Amino acid sequence: LIEFHEVTKTFTTGKREVIALDGIDLAIEAGEVFGVIGHSGAGKSTLVRLVNALEPVTSGRVLVDGADLATLPERRLRAVRAGIGMVFQQFNLLRSRTVFGNVAYPLKIAGWDRERRRRRVAELLNFVGIADKAWTYPDQLSGGQKQRVGIARALGTNPKILLADESTSALDPETTGEVLRLLKRVNTELGVTIVVITHEMEVVREIADRVAVLENGRVAEVGSVFDVFSAPKTDTAKRLVGTVL
Ligand code: ATP
Ligand code: MG
Repeated sequence: LIEFHEVTKTFTTGKREVIALDGIDLAIEAGEVFGVIGHSGAGKSTLVRLVNALEPVTSGRVLVDGADLATLPERRLRAVRAGIGMVFQQFNLLRSRTVFGNVAYPLKIAGWDRERRRRRVAELLNFVGIADKAWTYPDQLSGGQKQRVGIARALGTNPKILLADESTSALDPETTGEVLRLLKRVNTELGVTIVVITHEMEVVREIADRVAVLENGRVAEVGSVFDVFSAPKTDTAKRLVGTVL
């Protein structure tokens, strides 16, 4: 579903060049929950931003559903993006809009009429379990509730892929568990492929099928969560997963 072929990404700020990704080869299959772990600066966020074509690759190719994002005409790129939802660490909700308004917003942008939006938002809020908060503003919600809104908003247009970059990092352990169970339902009940980026190993263990360990912009290791956690091969993986054993 998502393929990286020899993907390199460099950032140039002034005279300094940072190699954020350095020859990534990776395939994420439809229907799986795929975890991406690695130390700060390893390139995790950059990796997912490429999937959404929020950033162009420096070299190599990123394919979504077989289509090379770099060569797609703008119209088709928009269609690919509509099939990808994103949830963020800081939730990124609009403070001036209600929960309903936040979830309805992307649907409005996508040109859905009022009645269709109303029905879809009601459905989404039910799914994430905050139907009673529809007319509340984000400031009055707990972190977990905010993330439920973020997930509902990301699911509006029925994406096939959900990218979750540190989506539970701002939450306490109990709330994290609730949000992870919700993400798992998004995967199993809605069939959405999920890419979870996190520095929290428990998150990967609880929800992911497979995991890639990034180190300095390279894939140090990739495999089933069971294999990587029970028998990490590289030092980076050992150090990372060692923190939960
Ligand atoms: P963290 O766990 O801290 O979120 P990360 O694994 O997500 O880290 P990235 O954000 O992907 O890491 O960053 C990888 C490298 O690329 C870092 O060295 C970072 O400083 C650099 N980088 C990322 N985005 C930019 C940018 N827009 N401009 C310049 N350098 C960047
Ligand atoms: Mg990051």
